[in-house]
Amino acid sequence: MSKPHALVTGGSRGIGAAICHTLAAAGHPILLNYRSNDAAAEEVKAAIEADGGQVTLLKFDVTDREASGAALEKLIADEVPVGVLVNNAGIAKDASFPQMSWEQWESVTRTTLDGFFNVTRPLVMPMVRRRWGRIINISSVSGVDGNRGQVNYAAAKAGLIGATKSLAQEVAKRGVTVNAIAPGLVETDMIEDAPVDIILKHIPMRRVGKPEEVASLVGWLASDLAGYITGQVVVMSGGL
Ligand code: NDP
Repeated sequence: MSKPHALVTGGSRGIGAAICHTLAAAGHPILLNYRSNDAAAEEVKAAIEADGGQVTLLKFDVTDREASGAALEKLIADEVPVGVLVNNAGIAKDASFPQMSWEQWESVTRTTLDGFFNVTRPLVMPMVRRRWGRIINISSVSGVDGNRGQVNYAAAKAGLIGATKSLAQEVAKRGVTVNAIAPGLVETDMIEDAPVDIILKHIPMRRVGKPEEVASLVGWLASDLAGYITGQVVVMSGGL
């Protein structure tokens, strides 16, 4: 039996790109969403196709409700069965709270929370009708524990956890699971400016995570074997 399509938001770089590779290797045709970096998206597509996978690029900004709706309505009209949705697109704009601008607050919370709404809402009913679906939301340890300098990011990622738990309860009876992963520090462009040496002292494993490690958990949560886990937050942080 062919596997359902997997839509990965922010699939062109970092954790999202690794998730695309893992789900493609598991046999899912990939719908790779990204916002702006065409070259990075094309590179991931070419690498997956070289390994025998299938990738369709879907360029839209997840904060743009109209653009997201138009892209997803087209998929639904074309009867593309999206069975796996990974809400991975996210940005960080850190600042101490008194220094935080409205733009830093709004762009970060909108990317995570409006992005979740704009992409998940059109796709959830088709999953419910098919009686199978896997929604996996990439949160953060900041959303679980809080983190100084990240009031915006932690609020967004904690909100995503609330959305995960609530939606899980709404759709559990229909064979759709909704879970969140809360990574600690992961080696991607996002942590380029983070004081990694200082943070490492607080990580019991004394290393940052790899995108592939997050992706492997996504792969398992997307599988049939994970069908009895829903509404959960799996922290993956090297013991932080
Ligand atoms: P990167 O900055 O490496 O990549 C971000 C990806 O998201 C890119 O593909 C980017 O596309 C896309 N993106 C950003 N904004 C939008 C948007 N509005 N619409 C569509 N796509 C968008 O991030 P990471 O791989 O590090 O992070 C992935 C997720 O994991 C995020 O949600 C992040 O918060 C979370 N996370 C990351 C951690 C880390 O340490 N790296 C730790 C904990 C959680 P483009 O390049 O085209 O703009």
